Amino acid sequence: MPETSLRLFDSLTAQIQPFLPRTSGEAGVYCCGPTVYDVAHVGHARAAIVPDVLVRHLRAEGLRVKYVRNITDVDDKIMKRASEAGEDPLALSARMAVLYQEDVRAFGCTQPDVEPKVSEHIPDIISLIEKLIEKESAYVVADPDGSNSVYYAVRSFPSYGKLSKRKVEELQVGARIEANETKRDPLDFALWKGCPEAGWGWPSPWGKGRPGWHIECSAMSARHLGHGFDVHTGGMDLVFPHHENEIAQSEGAFPADGSFARLWVHNGFVNIDKEKMAKSLGNFVTIRQVYERNDPERRRYFLLGVHYRGPIAFDSEKLDDGRVIFPGILEAERRVDYLYQTIARLRALAESDKPGTLSTMPPSLAAYQTLANEAVPRVRAALDDDLNTPVALSVIAELAKAGNEFCDLAQRKKDAVILRQAPYIASRLAKALVDVTERLGLLQAMPAVYTARTQAQRLAMRGLTAAAIEQKLQERTQARAAKDFARADAIRNELGAWNVEVFDSTVGTTWRILA
Ligand SMILES: [Zn+2]
Repeated sequence: MPETSLRLFDSLTAQIQPFLPRTSGEAGVYCCGPTVYDVAHVGHARAAIVPDVLVRHLRAEGLRVKYVRNITDVDDKIMKRASEAGEDPLALSARMAVLYQEDVRAFGCTQPDVEPKVSEHIPDIISLIEKLIEKESAYVVADPDGSNSVYYAVRSFPSYGKLSKRKVEELQVGARIEANETKRDPLDFALWKGCPEAGWGWPSPWGKGRPGWHIECSAMSARHLGHGFDVHTGGMDLVFPHHENEIAQSEGAFPADGSFARLWVHNGFVNIDKEKMAKSLGNFVTIRQVYERNDPERRRYFLLGVHYRGPIAFDSEKLDDGRVIFPGILEAERRVDYLYQTIARLRALAESDKPGTLSTMPPSLAAYQTLANEAVPRVRAALDDDLNTPVALSVIAELAKAGNEFCDLAQRKKDAVILRQAPYIASRLAKALVDVTERLGLLQAMPAVYTARTQAQRLAMRGLTAAAIEQKLQERTQARAAKDFARADAIRNELGAWNVEVFDSTVGTTWRILA
């Protein structure tokens, strides 16, 4: 059975814990997905990327992973938004769910094995609520409109507060019952929200209604992963009350099955211009707004540059021409470009000749081979250490730098031994680079595809077309042919102002647009 030395910071015990799977060689991971009432923002992207790296790493270690990420398609916010738009709530949430899936896929996130929706798990939710009523952890109350709601009795669960480290007595101070609520205790929360016949809901033993928010994750994780699955992930903002309530529901209904999840992994906030990003603050940047301006891979690189538990500062800068830029993303963009250029160079060198090996490696080359050999264990060790992606990225940067150095060396040196060894070493370095970036979900496109994608985006950003640049280059060639060097230089400067870099070689002129 594949073993892993992974250790994760577990929010429940507030300690680094070894990852000891329920079943050897397997892993069950549940991630709280979005409530799909609007387009996704970068906070959602971060919450999806963290379990994605976890799943990639575990799979690369040989574990069989079942990854479940839910979609909340039944919610009061969805109902409100849909009624404002005169749309069916499930039609609106289905539309938003597709946009979310497209967005996170663009961020390089692998498709979860299951993406359960609340609307497709109503029977599971109802039977879990019935179980809680049977255990006297929940109670039914009549609502003023004639419907019935079901609430969870928080005081029936003695260890309530263990995840968020809150005490029931402290919670009691701030808690109150809203005028429209029928719960017995201010601490209690809704499992089933009754509604009149004309309202949006499903039939249940208590009449028509909709599930409360928290019950869905207890029901869907049990359905797809069983009790006591391995890792539960989500944003730090979900610790209380959402995850606290999930624990109370699952452990309250099935006390004999032990803990609901074995490890709790929570990612930090995304702060935009120093403020916590939340839709309520109105300063959120949607993935789509960002996507229009930036390649998603650089955003992924940017997000991975900070340890998942720390906050990410997403600071923008307004330029004199009114454009808004994100300096952190620009830096990530240069780094991703560099990685793609490196892999393309290494592959070209590797394919330049048949790789051969010498029985003894000259010392000047042995260092490169050692670097290639050690990159994978070093990245594994970094990820095993509570998914330390910044350290993993630094190993990748070191490897890429060495790869470029080696390509330079092979181009420069006319040494017979180096030339004979170059394809072999280049292929080792290229393979190491692919193996380590795979774990982070980077370099997933073919270099040519990435280049085409980013070039097209950069042209569009500056309102340019490839044809316009080709036209300028043609004029420059004509000017040079006519020995009008002042004109040729002026055109080159004009292109430079557009961030277009021109390369002249014996075979012709090529160009690329820089970030
Ligand atoms: Zn959840």
